[in-house]
This record gives sequence, C-alpha cells and structure tokens, in this order.
Amino acid sequence: MALIVQKYGGTSVANPERIRSVARRVARYKALGHQVVVVVSAMSGETNKLINLAKEIMAEPDPRELDVMVATGEQVTIALTAMAIMDLGIKAVSYTGAQVPIWTNDAHTKARILDIDDKKIHADLDAGFVVVVAGFQGVDENGNITTLGRGGSDTTGVALAASLKADECQIYTDVDGVYTTDPRIVPEARRLKSITFEEMLEMASLGSKVLQIRSVEFAGKYKVKLRVLSSFEEEGEGTLITFEDENMEQPIISGIAFNRDEAKITVLGVPDRPGIAYQILGPIADANIDVDMIIQNVGADGTTDFTFTVHKNELNKALTILKDKVQGHINAREIVGDDKTAKVSVVGVGMRSHVGIASQMFRTLAEEGINIQMISTSEIKISVVIDEKYMELAVRVLHKAFELEEDRG
Ligand code: ADP
Ligand code: ASP
Ligand code: MG
Repeated sequence: MALIVQKYGGTSVANPERIRSVARRVARYKALGHQVVVVVSAMSGETNKLINLAKEIMAEPDPRELDVMVATGEQVTIALTAMAIMDLGIKAVSYTGAQVPIWTNDAHTKARILDIDDKKIHADLDAGFVVVVAGFQGVDENGNITTLGRGGSDTTGVALAASLKADECQIYTDVDGVYTTDPRIVPEARRLKSITFEEMLEMASLGSKVLQIRSVEFAGKYKVKLRVLSSFEEEGEGTLITFEDENMEQPIISGIAFNRDEAKITVLGVPDRPGIAYQILGPIADANIDVDMIIQNVGADGTTDFTFTVHKNELNKALTILKDKVQGHINAREIVGDDKTAKVSVVGVGMRSHVGIASQMFRTLAEEGINIQMISTSEIKISVVIDEKYMELAVRVLHKAFELEEDRG
C-alpha cells in the first residue's frame, strides 16, 4: 500500500465529465489498496474570470479581498470532486486550505506555505477516506485566506506530499509530461522520460509553466518523488523528476525555456565610479522589485551603460523610481525602458562537462539574424534576451540545432 498525492490542474477538472474521470482514476488507485489525497485547481479559466471580475470593481484589487474571492474557484472543484468520488461508492471528504489548515505567511496573492497540519488528513486516510484538498490556497495566522501565486496548486500538491511523506506526488495536466520545450510552440517537442530536479528548477524559473517553481523547490528540499502525467490518458509513465545521481546517462541539453515576462531598462551615460550599481539598484530593491539579469559596459569616454531586467508588470514603477530618485543624483544621460523583449534559455546539466554550447547557441541565432541583447549563464543554463518578435523562431531553431526532437532513448 502506498500513499499517493494526485494534483489535477484546471483542464483536468474543467467540467463534470472531466471530474468524473478524475474520480475514476482515484477509484482505480483505491482498488489497488493505495491511500489517495487529491489536490485540485479551479476549473480552467475560472481564476482568470474571478480576477477580471474584481478588476471591474477596483482597478488594482485589494490583495486580501482578491484572495477571499479567487479561493472560491478551488472551493467549487473540491466539493464536486468529492461528490464524484462518493458517487462511485468510495468515502471522500473535501477541505479548503484553511480547513486543513495549510498555514502560510500573510503575503496575499503570493503567500508561502509555512506549515501543514496534516493530522486530520492522516486520520481520514486511516478511516478509508479519499481526502480532496483545495490547491493554491492557505490561511495566515490571523485567519485570513491567502493564495500562493498563479499555478500554485502544484505547490499545494508537492507540499502536501512532503508533509504526508507520500510515496509519490503525481501532477496531472493536459500534456503527458515535461517536454523539451512547450509543445504549443514546437510541435516536434519530445517528452522527457526523466529530468533532473536541478534542470526542472531552471526550466520552471526560466518560464516553463508546466510546474510552478515553488513546487519544484519543495520537491528538491524534501526529496518528493514527483511525476508529471496527462489526465487525458489512462496509461503513461509521464516524466519523472529525478535527483542527479539516479541518472547515469545525461543529454547535454534537456530543454528550452522562454518567457515574455521581462522588460529591459537601460541607464545611459552613467559615470564610471564605485557605488553606481548600488545607487541604481538600491532604490529598486527598496521598492521590492525583483531584478533578474544585469550588464554594465564601460565606454571609451569613461561613462557606462547599465542595463537590467525586471518583470514587465513592474517596468513603469521601476522607471518612475529611476527618473525621480536616481537620474539626477548620478547624472545619468537617459533612462529607457523596453518591454518588447523575451528571454530564451537552453538548460542541461550536461553543459557542465561540455564546452561550446554557448557558441553553438549564438551561432544558431546569428544565422537567423536574431540579435542578442543580453546574455546570462549559470553552470547548467544559458539565457539570452532578444526582441520579442523573434522568440518563437529562436525557440524553434535552437530546438532543432540541439537535436532535441530526436529520440535518443
Ligand atoms: P495545469 O492547469 O494542469 O496546471 P498548466 O497550463 O499550468 O496546466 O501547465 C501545462 C502547460 O504547460 C502545457 O499545456 C504546456 O503548454 C505548458 N508547457 C510549457 N512548457 C512546457 C514543457 N517544457 N513541457 C510541457 N508543457 C509545457
Ligand atoms: N487556479 C489557480 C490558477 O489558475 C491555481 C492553479 O491552477 O494552480 O493560477
Ligand atoms: Mg499549472
């Protein structure tokens, strides 16, 4: 007998028939003698609908009230899922995040899970129930409903699996695993039988939304056995997230990630003296704006251009801070923002032991006439910022250049 956590995303609970299909899978696992905890998202499109509704009332919705509201999406699906399971003659009970409770901090709309009180769940499982838990939500110490950020049900699933010491956490979605890149962009993309936790962490943080990054962090920290599978198929091994030493044979590049979420800010004509980077980025950090890539070039005239990226949602806020608080202070000539950018990254642990990956990437982009605006690297990834309009082309040509479509067993 194993304890299994199954998380179902929005398309997997999109309508009554899909929910019945979830119940049938749960029943199959129960019939094999397993204990099952189910985590569900809201029906697909529901969270967006709720957020848009809130925006019709308040342009920038109050975060606490927004959480009260969007958490209702998952409250609907837990009850329906529990009913569908009961309808098959299996005992089931549903809980909201606050009922478990899943304790979080009070950072509304992007709360972090601090602790899960799983006594009730264990007792229910021991009594033969399937427990259905709302994804994406928790409760803070003052009883306020919180949510975990978009895609947060993945994190609920993995955090519950960690807390319950589950044998496996299965993430059911609308693709049958983690692919070499988003199959919606590259139809030739190939499912990976396995991917290392480190690579998955990079892929998620660089834009592959198949798993929320926090869920991958949890899986790494608590060594949760994590598998991504399709809820649209009965069979299938999906993709297993492994820890590196379990994987003998590693491809050099495992996947390509991309995102359109970052904007670029350039501060031009900055005097080249100590402390400048701090004077530019200090006020940005004080405003809680995350900075990703940074480059600085010293020109022949002794001034420098300082370029960095922020989330597109925070571009205007960052530009206002720089123009109001920084430009005059450091005597910069000009500050320009560009939100027509995209970041494309190649990821693979095999890069550690192979040279020439960066040059192959840059050559491939050059052959298509794609200009690279910024570059950043780590041991297992190379990222470039390019013009947004070339993003899909870049992903496709890199996918081909690194021979990712071919099955190498
Ligand atoms: P869910 O609602 O089940 O959480 P998501 O939409 O959040 O589903 O995640 C699944 C989607 O992630 C897929 O439909 C796919 O388009 C996208 N995706 C992005 N990158 C990848 C990748 N490397 N492998 C598989 N899917 C990916
Ligand atoms: N329903 C939430 C969202 O759409 C959480 C999730 O689906 O994981 O972001
Ligand atoms: Mg998701």
